[in-house]
Amino acid sequence: MSRTVYVNGNFVAEEQATVSVFDRGFLFADAVYEVTSVIDGKLLDNAGHLARLHRSLGELNIKPPATDDEIVRVQQELVRRNSLDEGSVYLQVSRGVADRDFGYAADMTPTLVMFTQQKSLRNPPQAEKGIAVISVPDIRWQRRDIKTVGLLAQCLAKQQAVDAGVADAWMVEDGVVTEGSSNNAFIVDADGNIITRHLGNKILHGITRASVIALLESDNRQLHERAFTLEEACAAREAFVTSATTFVWPVVEIDGHTIGDGKPGPLATRLREIYIETALARA
Ligand code: PMP
Repeated sequence: MSRTVYVNGNFVAEEQATVSVFDRGFLFADAVYEVTSVIDGKLLDNAGHLARLHRSLGELNIKPPATDDEIVRVQQELVRRNSLDEGSVYLQVSRGVADRDFGYAADMTPTLVMFTQQKSLRNPPQAEKGIAVISVPDIRWQRRDIKTVGLLAQCLAKQQAVDAGVADAWMVEDGVVTEGSSNNAFIVDADGNIITRHLGNKILHGITRASVIALLESDNRQLHERAFTLEEACAAREAFVTSATTFVWPVVEIDGHTIGDGKPGPLATRLREIYIETALARA
């Protein structure tokens, strides 16, 4: 069945949806995006995603294409029109359309595209069994804090993982793990210390990461926000990743090293449960 998608003010059948070949999102990856997950038709952590959208747009001097209220109305309308129960709403803003030139005018009209994707989020096998990951060199640019559609390095990392028969890749730079191909990485060391990479330009500031950290804080669990090495990760008692569409997935193998007893760890399992519960209650 054809989806209804949203392009620049119009709800249209996906077959009819078009964007110019001169759109700078297409030509230069001059565009940012957000993904908000949906459960029971509700948008999870959407305020955080919209706040980060504004930050990304501001860093690139792209004009907001609509108010937050308007964006939320479109998100909800897409959920409704597509009868989306579980999955996600994708939102992309590019700088707009202009004859191909590296430089750009200040007054461009941004392109706004939104669509839904149906996906089982609550009980996927990855959550129950945990995932295996491999490490790959982090070959991305230096502004990973901006959520741009320039995702080729992450696509290559993910495909390398798939070709190696595992679920995902953790990217490594200067001997330390930055993040997963599309998620933030956490470990729990042998002494029970919970560690995740500190914020900065080297990683995306995950909305799910922030929510999970808030849950740890409300539980009086101390978190160490610092870089950790691949060796520390391989020796960890527990590891997991966070993202909008996975919530929390346990990591049970890194580069062939079994993590803990090879089963999802207790912290990841618990955080997954309470993240879903609290995010749904807030939505
Ligand atoms: N890091 C990267 C590189 C990502 O692509 C994503 C997901 N887009 C994340 C982290 C997780 O961010 P969030 O929790 O906001 O989905």
